[in-house]
Amino acid sequence: MKKTTARILCFLLAAVMLLMLALPYAVRVLAADDLQQLEQQLQDVRNEGKELEEKQEQQEAYKENLEAQNEIIKQQIATIADSIATTKESLAQKQAELDQKRREIEETNALFCERLRAMQVNRSSGMLSTLLAVNTFDELLTASTTLSRISAADTSLLEKLGDEQAEIERQENEINDQLTQLETDQAALESKKQELASNIQAADNSIDEIEALKLANKDEEARLVKEYNEARAQAEAELGRPSGSPEFVGGAYNWPVPGYYNISSPYGPRTLYGVPDFHTGIDINKGTYATIYGANIVASLSGTVQTVVYGSRGYGYYVIVDHGGNNKTLYGHMSRIDVTVGQQVVGGVTVLGGVGSTGNSTGPHLHFEIRLNGQQVDPAPYLGR
Ligand SMILES: [Zn+2]
Repeated sequence: MKKTTARILCFLLAAVMLLMLALPYAVRVLAADDLQQLEQQLQDVRNEGKELEEKQEQQEAYKENLEAQNEIIKQQIATIADSIATTKESLAQKQAELDQKRREIEETNALFCERLRAMQVNRSSGMLSTLLAVNTFDELLTASTTLSRISAADTSLLEKLGDEQAEIERQENEINDQLTQLETDQAALESKKQELASNIQAADNSIDEIEALKLANKDEEARLVKEYNEARAQAEAELGRPSGSPEFVGGAYNWPVPGYYNISSPYGPRTLYGVPDFHTGIDINKGTYATIYGANIVASLSGTVQTVVYGSRGYGYYVIVDHGGNNKTLYGHMSRIDVTVGQQVVGGVTVLGGVGSTGNSTGPHLHFEIRLNGQQVDPAPYLGR
C-alpha cells in the first residue's frame, strides 16, 4: 500500500516537472496567431540593432588602431624634427669652419702675395743691390734658395689649406645629403599623418552614421510596439463604450465560423517578445482544413453593429457587435467586412465578413472576444456549435 502511494507520488512529481519544462514553450505557442508576425518584425528590428552595434564596435576598434598609428607617426615626426635641427646645427658649424678656412686661405694668400711682391721689387731694383751685396757664389746660392724655399713653403701651406677646405666642403655636402634625406622622410611622415587624419575622419563619419541608424532602429522598434498598443487600446475603448440599450437582446451564443472548430490559441496569459501579455479572446484557425481564408464569419449573437475598423495593426479589420446590457462580441483580422455601423444582425445567421489575416496576424484566423456585462471572459465555455 505504502509502495503504491510512493509510486503515485513519484509519477505525479514527474508529471509536474514535465509540465513546468513545457510551460515556457506553451506560453510562446499561445502568442502564435495574433502576435507571431509582430514578434518576427520586432526580432528583425532587434537583430538589425545588434548588427549595428557590432558594426559600431568594429569602426571604433578601427579608429583606435588609426589613432595609435597616428601617435607613432607623431613621435616619429618629433624625432625627425630633432634630427633635422641637429643636422642643421652641424651644417651651420661646418659652414663656420668653412668660413674660417676660407679666411685662413685668404690671409695666407695675401701674405704670400705680399712676399712675392717684395721679392719682385727686390728683383727689379733692390734685388740687384741684394745680389751685389752677395760676395761669394755660396752667398748667392743661399739667397736664391731662401727665396725659393719661402715660395715652396707658402705653396705647400696653401695646398694644405686647399685640401682642408675641400674636406670640409665634402663633409658639408654629406650633411646636406643627410638633411635632404631627413626632409624627404619628414614629408613622407607628414603625408602619412594626413592620410591617417582623413581615415580617422572617415571612421568618425561612419560611426556617426551608425549612431543615426541605431536611433532610427530604436524608433522603429518603439513605433511597432506603440502602434500595436494603440490599436489594442482603441479596440478596448470601443469594447468599453456603454451599450446602446441596457437590455440584453442577444439570445444564445453561436460558433462564429461555422465548419471550423479548431482553437489555435486559447484565452489567457501569453508573452509578447518576452513581455507578459494577455490574450483577451480565442483564435480559430483552419485546423485540418487546407485554408480558412475567406470563410464566412457570422454574428455569434443578435444585436447591432457598433464598430467597424479597417486597421493595419492590432486586430486589423474588425467588427464589434453590441448585444445590449454591455454585452459585446469582437471579430478580428477579417479579410473583408460585409456589414456597416448601426446594422441589425441575427445571431448565427448574418454574415459579418470573411476570415483573414489583417493587422498583427501570421496566418488567416479569427480572433473572437466576448464581453459579458462589460467584463472580458473566456469565450470557449459560452460557445455551442
Ligand atoms: Zn487572438
